[in-house]
Amino acid sequence: MLHLIINYINLFIPDVYLKNIYSIDLAKMKEQKNIRGIIIDLDNTLFPWGKYFLDDRVLSWIKEVKQADIKICLVTNTHRKNISEIGNDLGIPFFYSRYKPRRKPFRKAMKIMNTAEKETAVIGDQIFTDVFGGNRLKLLTILVCPLSPRDAFGTTHFSRPVERFLISHWLKNGKMKLINSRWPL
Ligand SMILES: [Mg+2]
Repeated sequence: MLHLIINYINLFIPDVYLKNIYSIDLAKMKEQKNIRGIIIDLDNTLFPWGKYFLDDRVLSWIKEVKQADIKICLVTNTHRKNISEIGNDLGIPFFYSRYKPRRKPFRKAMKIMNTAEKETAVIGDQIFTDVFGGNRLKLLTILVCPLSPRDAFGTTHFSRPVERFLISHWLKNGKMKLINSRWPL
């Protein structure tokens, strides 16, 4: 029984923990991990929560993804009026789904990108949606530190405190490690 619970809890642990999306060496990730598609979260991963502006750094990162010949799909569980504006500005496929961490939105994104589970990475800032959902399908899960302390009410009041507790526990016992350099090494 206990091992079942532990196995379940392990699904919330990301494969990789980085400061932000810019810590990823995209070409190297493709080469070493055989990643051909990225499912990317919006709020607090690409842009601070609820904010959107044409950011040169984000645009050149997207360009770098495309140059590495990696597909990308934006999946957000926050309903925003400007989601299509954001997707169109960035020139990438996108959709809104309130169902992360269910498997459906992840499968839909892989269908759009035409990638298999073992060649798909998920990048996001939350262990209960991005990481848990990705690990359920055995995708490569990359957790990044949230860009802003602001977030949806339920997130700041319920999931973040639990998340902070779990992450600090895993950092202490070595189940997680924040990589401060470019990754993969
Ligand atoms: Mg997020």
